[in-house]
Amino acid sequence: MNDHIIIIGGGIIGLLSGRELLRRGHGVTILEAGDLSNSASTGNAGVISPGHAPIPTPEVASKAIRMMVDRRSPLYIPPRPSLSLMKWLLSFRRACRPAHYAMTSDVLDRFSRQSRDCFGPLLEECPQALDPVGFAEVVRTEAGREHLLEEEARLTKAGFEVEMKTGDQLRQDDPSWNDSVLGGLFHHEGIVARPDDLLLHLADRIKDEGGHLRTGVRVKHLHHSAARFQSIELEDGERIEGDTLLVTAGIWSSGLARDLNIRVPMQAAKGYHLMVEMKQPPKIASVLSEACVVVNPMGDLVRLAGTLELSGINDRMVQRRLDMLPEASCRYLPEIEHAKRHSEWNGLRPCTADGLPVIGPVPGLEQAYLATGHAMMGVTLGPGTAKLVGQYIDGEAVPDWVDKMDVRRFA
Ligand SMILES: Cc1cc2nc3c(=O)[nH]c(=O)nc-3n(C[C@H](O)[C@H](O)[C@H](O)COP(=O)(O)OP(=O)(O)OC[C@H]3O[C@@H](n4cnc5c(N)ncnc54)[C@H](O)[C@@H]3O)c2cc1C
Repeated sequence: MNDHIIIIGGGIIGLLSGRELLRRGHGVTILEAGDLSNSASTGNAGVISPGHAPIPTPEVASKAIRMMVDRRSPLYIPPRPSLSLMKWLLSFRRACRPAHYAMTSDVLDRFSRQSRDCFGPLLEECPQALDPVGFAEVVRTEAGREHLLEEEARLTKAGFEVEMKTGDQLRQDDPSWNDSVLGGLFHHEGIVARPDDLLLHLADRIKDEGGHLRTGVRVKHLHHSAARFQSIELEDGERIEGDTLLVTAGIWSSGLARDLNIRVPMQAAKGYHLMVEMKQPPKIASVLSEACVVVNPMGDLVRLAGTLELSGINDRMVQRRLDMLPEASCRYLPEIEHAKRHSEWNGLRPCTADGLPVIGPVPGLEQAYLATGHAMMGVTLGPGTAKLVGQYIDGEAVPDWVDKMDVRRFA
C-alpha cells in the first residue's frame, strides 16, 4: 500500500494508532505540536484499568451541586461564564441517568476488555514501561466499602477478575497502609504503566518501523474538497497533502473538527501529578478511593495523580489543588507526609459529556477519521482504539457497540 495517512497529535492515541496503521502497511506521518514530554499521555497516573466506570454515573449526579461550589472537592467546576460549559453540564446531567449509565458502562466494559486483550505484544516488547501486576482500589470509610462491594459485583458480572481484601490483608502485604484503611478491591487484570517511558518507546518504534514523526509542529487548518480530505496546513503556512486524515489531538480535537464542519463538544478536565521521593514507597499501585488520588511507584519516585477540574483549556497550576494530592494520600499512606517533593505537572483529559470516546469516520467526508474523548481511560483504551482505527481505515467490520462512539451523536 502506498497511501499516506496524516495523524494530528502524538499522544498515546496518535502513537498507538500510527503503529497499528504502519503494521497494516500504510504510510504514516504524525504531526505533534509539543516534544512528546508534556501531554496528558505522559503525565497521567499510569493505571490501565479494564472495567473502569464512565465519569457520568447516577452517584456523581447527586454530588454535582456540592462539587461545583467546593474548591476542595477532587471534582471541581470553578464558576465561569461559558455557554459551551453550561450545555456540556446539562448533557452530562442527562448522561448520569441510570439507563444511560447502563449503556455507557456496557460499552466501556466491552471496549476495555478488547483493549486489554490488545496489550499482549506491548507487554512483551516494553516491560520497562508496562507491568501486568494489577492494582488495588483502597477505601477507609464504610461508604467506600459499600461502593467497593457494588463495584466487585458489577465487575465480576462483566467478567473482570477482581478480589476483595480486608485492611488487615493489605497491611500484611505492605505495612505502609494506615490502620484506618478498611479494605481494597484488587484488579488482577490491571496493568501499571510508566507513561513517559511508554510514549518514548512508541515514538522510537514508529521511527524504526518506517513512520514519520515530526515534533514541534502545530496544525492550524484542515483542508478538504466537498467530498474528501486533501491536506493540512501548519502554523507557518506549510501544507502537507495526504490520502487520509486521523485527528487524535486530545482536547484540541474539538477546535480542529470545526474545519471538518462537525461538532465534537468536549470539556478539558484538568488533573495534576506530584512526583515525590519516599524512603519506603508503597509496594503496589493503588487508587485511594474517597480521595480520588492514584499512587503509583515509579522507580525511585512515586507519582501521586488526581483531581478533576473543569476550568477550560489552560495549564494554570493551582497550588491549593496540587497540595490536595499529598494531603489526601497521607490518610491512607502516612509516609507520604514526610515525602520530599520532586516535580509537579498538570494536564488535560479530553471529556465528552456522555462519558464515551469519539471514534470513527467524519460524516460527509471521505478519508477523514477521529479518535478522541478518552477522558480518564486514554491509556486503558489506547490499544483497542488503535485496532478500531485500523479496521475503519481498511474498511473492515467493527463490533456493533462501537456505533455508540460515532461522532454523529452530537449532530
Ligand atoms: C492526572 C491524570 C491522570 C490520568 N490517569 C489515567 C490512568 O491512570 N489511566 C488511563 O487510562 N488514563 C489516564 N488519564 C487519561 C489519559 O491521560 C488521557 O485519556 C489520554 O492521555 C488522552 O490521550 P490523547 O492522545 O487523546 O491526548 P493527549 O495526550 O492530550 O495528546 C494529544 C496530543 O496532540 C497534540 N496536539 C494538539 N493540537 C495539535 C495541533 N493542532 N497540531 C499538532 N499537535 C497537536 C498535543 O500537543 C498532544 O501531545 C489521566 C489523565 C490525567 C490528566
